[in-house]
Amino acid sequence: MTDKFDVIVIGSGPAGYVAAIRAAQLGLNTACIEKWKDKEGKGVNGGTCLQVGCIPSKALLDTSYKYHEAKESLGSHGIGIKNIDINVPDMIARKDKVVKQMCGGIAGLFTANKVTSLYGTGKLLAGRKVQFVDHKGEEKILEAENVILASGSTPVNIPVAPIDGDVIVDSTGALEFHEIPERLGVIGAGVIGLELGSVWGRLGSKVVCLEAMDSFLAMMDQTIAKESKKILGKQGLDIRLSCRVTGSEVVEKKGKKEVVVTYTDQDGKEGKETFDKLIVCVGRRPFTDGLLAEDSGVKLDERGSIYVNDLCSTSAPGVWAIGDVVRGPMLAHKGSEEGVMVAERIAGQKPVVNYDIIPNVIYTHPEIAAVGKTEEQLKADGEEYNVGTFPFLAIGRAVAADEAEGMVKMIADAKTDRILGCHIVGPSAADLVQQVAIAMEFGSTAEDIGMTVFGHPTFSEAVKEAALAVGGHAIHMPNRKKRR
Ligand SMILES: Cc1cc2nc3c(=O)[nH]c(=O)nc-3n(C[C@H](O)[C@H](O)[C@H](O)COP(=O)(O)OP(=O)(O)OC[C@H]3O[C@@H](n4cnc5c(N)ncnc54)[C@H](O)[C@@H]3O)c2cc1C
Repeated sequence: MTDKFDVIVIGSGPAGYVAAIRAAQLGLNTACIEKWKDKEGKGVNGGTCLQVGCIPSKALLDTSYKYHEAKESLGSHGIGIKNIDINVPDMIARKDKVVKQMCGGIAGLFTANKVTSLYGTGKLLAGRKVQFVDHKGEEKILEAENVILASGSTPVNIPVAPIDGDVIVDSTGALEFHEIPERLGVIGAGVIGLELGSVWGRLGSKVVCLEAMDSFLAMMDQTIAKESKKILGKQGLDIRLSCRVTGSEVVEKKGKKEVVVTYTDQDGKEGKETFDKLIVCVGRRPFTDGLLAEDSGVKLDERGSIYVNDLCSTSAPGVWAIGDVVRGPMLAHKGSEEGVMVAERIAGQKPVVNYDIIPNVIYTHPEIAAVGKTEEQLKADGEEYNVGTFPFLAIGRAVAADEAEGMVKMIADAKTDRILGCHIVGPSAADLVQQVAIAMEFGSTAEDIGMTVFGHPTFSEAVKEAALAVGGHAIHMPNRKKRR
């Protein structure tokens, strides 16, 4: 093995592995170092996203939704199924199979693109040297023209609910329950808390989400957030805002462990709940443990992220950083785009990432999805805008599918009609919002979408109608604002 590379990437999550593949495609001699081991103790690529994040959570969301549908909603279609059962170990085993398949895919892509895959730990030294220690403990010093740091993030722990990996778990532990907890507590009603709460709620857990903030999904457009809270509440998720957890105690009762959680509510009153399992989902922090030698020249910012400029250059020449370990939303696709940008910049091209158009999705049912600015942000910025909303209740395909909850909200600039944001709660919201992201990338107006022919009957007709509503001429709904 050569010890000199054009590019060394540390971390093979969606930021790092994409950067490595793109760099290799561009003819750069590239190595990617990854320290993760799978359940059998073998080195494996994919990072948080594939191992304990996007993919396994969606596998469980899909299984639990199919179960829920069979049990609760197929009856309205005249389908009766008797003796519906869920085998949790089988569900977890299927999830593991999906993860293994996707990780194998990355290994295959590395081979196909001639990326050198190194399993072990990487540490950046001064002068673009990297100390590599493999899983057997053997050490080597590698050198590169460019180093890309993509070490990702890790769950935030809170002292009031210390993870014991049994009764109190983080998001990773919540992907591994082998039985359905009767009473499930979730600290944090954010994206991950809602997704994991939904998984176990659909399987029968009584779920209580304790959220310290006083508004639900504060980063989302509040029209959509309010609608989503209503829908999720109807599904049985007990979401309690302004609830600050003050302590937790694991106790044993009749030979079974449970956790007693204390909190203060919005009026400052003390509350207490007992759960069989408690998931702590209060956010993630950038992960740089053991990554940087003291003289690496790479600086961190006040939040512990690696400091980078808009082009993902760090404070050390030839060293770049991408993904969750740098500023910006902790989303797989944001890191992947940064990975492509950095690889292409190393190869002499001049791409940029458009940070204004990064879709964000919560995979509840229905999905909640957004791109661009919220109405609250535009108001705060003093922008003038027009809004069009359209409910799925007036969309034939949604009614036919029994998926008519939710709405699309489109926001466009008052003067130019250029789309500034789109916010959706409803069926296939993740895919619908992507249509608007493409339109925004091309600088489209709401009228452009309104003039586009949409297939009928589709969920996406709600996007067209919301765009028409911006101009006051939605067809399948009376328009509040009438414009020409
Ligand atoms: C439950 C859950 C669900 C999620 N769902 C979604 C979703 O639906 N959509 C979405 O966009 N995002 C989702 N995310 C977030 C997403 O997983 C992250 O944004 C994404 O994985 C970040 O990619 P990354 O490459 O920056 O880092 P990571 O995926 O964290 O990968 C970093 C890798 O670097 C390795 N590493 C770290 N230090 C070293 C070192 N010194 N040497 C060698 N290797 C090292 C780590 O082992 C890891 O494999 C979810 C996260 C969780 C926890």
